Amino acid sequence: MGDLLIEIGQNPHARRLIKQLGLPIPMPERLRRATTPWEERPLHDKDVVLAAGENPTLTAAVAQTLAAAGASPLVVGDDSLLEPFRTPGEAHGRPARKLPLGEELDRRADAIVFDASGIDSIAKLRALYDVFHPLVTKLARCGRVVVLGRPHEGLSPAHGAAQLALEGFVRSIAKEIGKTGSTAQLLCVEPGAEERLPAVLRFFLSPRSAFVSGQPIRISARVPGPKTIPWVQPLQGKIALVTGAARGIGAETARLLAAEGAHVVCLDRPDDDGPTSQLAREIGGSPLLADVSRPEAAAAIVDELTKRGGVDIVVHNAGITRDKTIARMSGEYWDLVLNVNLDAVIRMTDAILAGPMRQGGRIICLSSIAGIAGNVGQTNYAASKAGIIGFIKSLAPAVVDKGITVNAIAPGFIETRLTAAVPVAIREVARRMSNVGQGGLPKDVGEMVVFLASPGAVGITGSVIRTCGGAWIGA
Ligand code: NAP
Repeated sequence: MGDLLIEIGQNPHARRLIKQLGLPIPMPERLRRATTPWEERPLHDKDVVLAAGENPTLTAAVAQTLAAAGASPLVVGDDSLLEPFRTPGEAHGRPARKLPLGEELDRRADAIVFDASGIDSIAKLRALYDVFHPLVTKLARCGRVVVLGRPHEGLSPAHGAAQLALEGFVRSIAKEIGKTGSTAQLLCVEPGAEERLPAVLRFFLSPRSAFVSGQPIRISARVPGPKTIPWVQPLQGKIALVTGAARGIGAETARLLAAEGAHVVCLDRPDDDGPTSQLAREIGGSPLLADVSRPEAAAAIVDELTKRGGVDIVVHNAGITRDKTIARMSGEYWDLVLNVNLDAVIRMTDAILAGPMRQGGRIICLSSIAGIAGNVGQTNYAASKAGIIGFIKSLAPAVVDKGITVNAIAPGFIETRLTAAVPVAIREVARRMSNVGQGGLPKDVGEMVVFLASPGAVGITGSVIRTCGGAWIGA
């Protein structure tokens, strides 16, 4: 589905005319997205600035990540920040250059990474201002800001305040840079999880995270995981189940999982035999026709996955809306939405965990920002999607010992059949409500699924990641 404003915005004559007329029409930057499968050096020749507050503790992990991913690092500050780059810089032929604080950048930076992990007082937060005030205007279009922090729990009140202040900073700068298609995230690294930072940093510095912004993301060492992380074809040899795979987000997710090496079991309703089988053929996967709302579906799914020798990745994507205000909603609408979007997810997960789920598996559920913020006419839908968040938060600690992670993705406005059904005026407003001034594409959610399914995402569990372009609501 086309977004007319973005189409117009790509035309320089139209842009000029609208400017001359003084019209306040938003002209969002079309987001830059990945077009090829995962690669060894996703940041090849990207200019990435590293800066830090006092006593940073994560610069070694950043230096290793940037050098191995092919970036050209530029360090702002004193020589102590250059030191961690020496060995990885030599190993990968990516030496870091230095930019004294306050000096002008001679070109645009593709990303700015700020290590705020050592900031323990309000006074030391000033380093954020000192670095971003001169540099933020030098951020390239569709650039990336990533701030690194530590969990605030268990710290002294002033230290905890300083660390949680980072969330407000990131959410706000994400709104300020969003109009040029740029994003900002806070990666909050638990002590002991430092070696899990590189995989997460790679993803959030890459174009694969184009529609994720203003997010605090927790990285933990709770779930045991692999020592070495494959950067290319990370899902080779994995079996994945995607429900609701016939169209929209499910179809794109299945394609992206297959492109990274997974065999995908594409599940959809028996009425969708045509598109489901066609997709399975296209990606070398297999179709599975079942209505997840039926009580017998879980057994059929377990049968199929057991025949394949087990399952590593489960994506609960099938979902429906039946919108009406509560006063006008039929009991049938309530039951149907709660059954398909929530009860079926719990039934299927229970059956899969008791049978074919393999050690080190990944469970990824589709929630929605409606489940975080609520929405008029969606009491049933929002209840089901908020229930998903309760489900993943309760399940995640229970399966830690099996090396399984459980997460939810909360999409905002994504261009699919589901949102095409929204009245035109509301649709137009919903698109512009994100920091990046446009709706997301199914592949934006698919990229988030692939990342959470990958071995490198083992540090993320029990989390809800909004893929909403930093929508103004539900933050
Ligand atoms: P979609 O285009 O409507 O696709 C959903 C797919 O799920 C369809 O193929 C549908 O089959 C299938 N499905 C529905 N009920 C099923 C059942 N009982 N058993 C098996 N398959 C079933 O939806 P989408 O926009 O891609 O959304 C995918 C997920 O993301 C949903 O969980 C949705 O709530 C969530 N989400 C979407 C957005 C958005 O902006 N699009 C925002 C937030 C959250 P039929 O066509 O036969 O019904």
